Amino acid sequence: MMIHILCRTLFMILACSLPVRAVDGLLQSLDLKGSITGEDHQSYVELPFEVPAGAERLTVSFSYSGREDRTTIDLGLVGPDGLVGWSGGNKASFTVAATDATPSYFAAPVKAGRWALLLGVPNIRGGVSSAYEARVDIYGAADAGLAFSVRDDSGAAGWYRGDLHSHSGHSDGSCASKAGKRVPCPVFRTFEAATAAGLDFFALSEHNTASHARALRDLGGYYDTLTLLPAREITTFYGHMNVFGTFAPLDFKLTNGGERIKALIDAAHKAGGLVSLNHPGLPSGEDCMGCGWVAKDTDFSKVDAIEVINGGTLRHTGGMVEHPRSGILFWEARLNEGHRMTAIGGSDNHDPDIAPGSPGAIAMPTTVVHAKGRDAAAILGGIRKGRVFVDASGMADSILDLALQVGGHTFVMGEVAPFTPSVTLSVTVKSASGGRIQIIENGTETKSASIDKNDLHTLSMDHVLGPDTTWVRANVRDAEGRLVLVGNPIYLAH
Ligand SMILES: [Zn+2]
Ligand SMILES: [Zn+2]
Repeated sequence: MMIHILCRTLFMILACSLPVRAVDGLLQSLDLKGSITGEDHQSYVELPFEVPAGAERLTVSFSYSGREDRTTIDLGLVGPDGLVGWSGGNKASFTVAATDATPSYFAAPVKAGRWALLLGVPNIRGGVSSAYEARVDIYGAADAGLAFSVRDDSGAAGWYRGDLHSHSGHSDGSCASKAGKRVPCPVFRTFEAATAAGLDFFALSEHNTASHARALRDLGGYYDTLTLLPAREITTFYGHMNVFGTFAPLDFKLTNGGERIKALIDAAHKAGGLVSLNHPGLPSGEDCMGCGWVAKDTDFSKVDAIEVINGGTLRHTGGMVEHPRSGILFWEARLNEGHRMTAIGGSDNHDPDIAPGSPGAIAMPTTVVHAKGRDAAAILGGIRKGRVFVDASGMADSILDLALQVGGHTFVMGEVAPFTPSVTLSVTVKSASGGRIQIIENGTETKSASIDKNDLHTLSMDHVLGPDTTWVRANVRDAEGRLVLVGNPIYLAH
């Protein structure tokens, strides 16, 4: 057997001996090339490689020639502590990290030292030579270079619908077992409900653990119509916050009133995470321990999003969005202080059997994001930009978009327009007719228009902004006056 180790990055010797930190977390990319012959029939061969310090994920892709001659090469992985897994001939690629691994492999820390691909050769004919090529990508961050669900298309720019808050048996989610017992609910039940609700993206946000990353790895290939966002609900004594986009370790153990909250949020951002405060309007104390947001000295300029509608809260208010415990009041108070943060929503579902469309069922509420595409990075980028609305109506195809035209320029939700009193506001809406649009400036309704069509349409209106207005947004109420769609602001710079 001949083995060549080539490096894709930089020059061969340099890249093989020194870590090369690329922007996407790639430390090293190795090509292990060689060939086997009839002499290797029914033998095992190790292809060794060195993993540098600081590695957190390995991904391997493998191919070989000679199948027409019935050559078969099986594949496994050996780490410094022994066998990490064996996929035989059933997978051409796999990934391994401490948080998750492709089925066939253990989730295991990617320790520095000698690793090897383990090739098994059940068959190669005498006189035949088959070439193989393995690519080993070594990443310095477990979140880098991968996605949990892969669609063939990354999707066009447009509106994508999802649920950003839920729990399974990896934390306190439960459901009825086959025999009718209450059991920690398996993840697939939640994904089935999310798929049935027609969602495009989904966040399983377990309390202070990333153990569900393995389930995302196991199930993501099957649920490939659903973009699975890495997420956790960082759950402290002084409030809960979802961190999306990373499974990096985060120390949730705040004490002394939450005095380390700044460091925690900074650590989440350093890992590439998006931070959203959950159900911040709930009480704290013995009624609901740690539920409301009370962490002292929180720097709200560092907070990316606020959960303005929480499905768990809706279960206690009989589905009423407007309630003293709603996150909308908390969010608008922060906007009035000059902070800019995107309003989102999440069902906080703990039981996928809650009847679809009822408060706290999966997709109740739904967050609808205008994104560049449907992959996780695009969805999270869309939330950061703020062209987002929250739907508590249960409609599967609602739309609420706001544009502000001034001086020949158009600004959309999340953008900052220069303050000019006279503007044109355009509200594009798809909701049940009989309701009305509200224009809200700094928390106060300043204009209203009725909705007399069910289908998608745009209402344009000349409008004079209040002299102190720093943000303007739109709501939609249904025919009974209930708040059903919550839009994000366009900000005004004075
Ligand atoms: Zn919570
Ligand atoms: Zn929760």
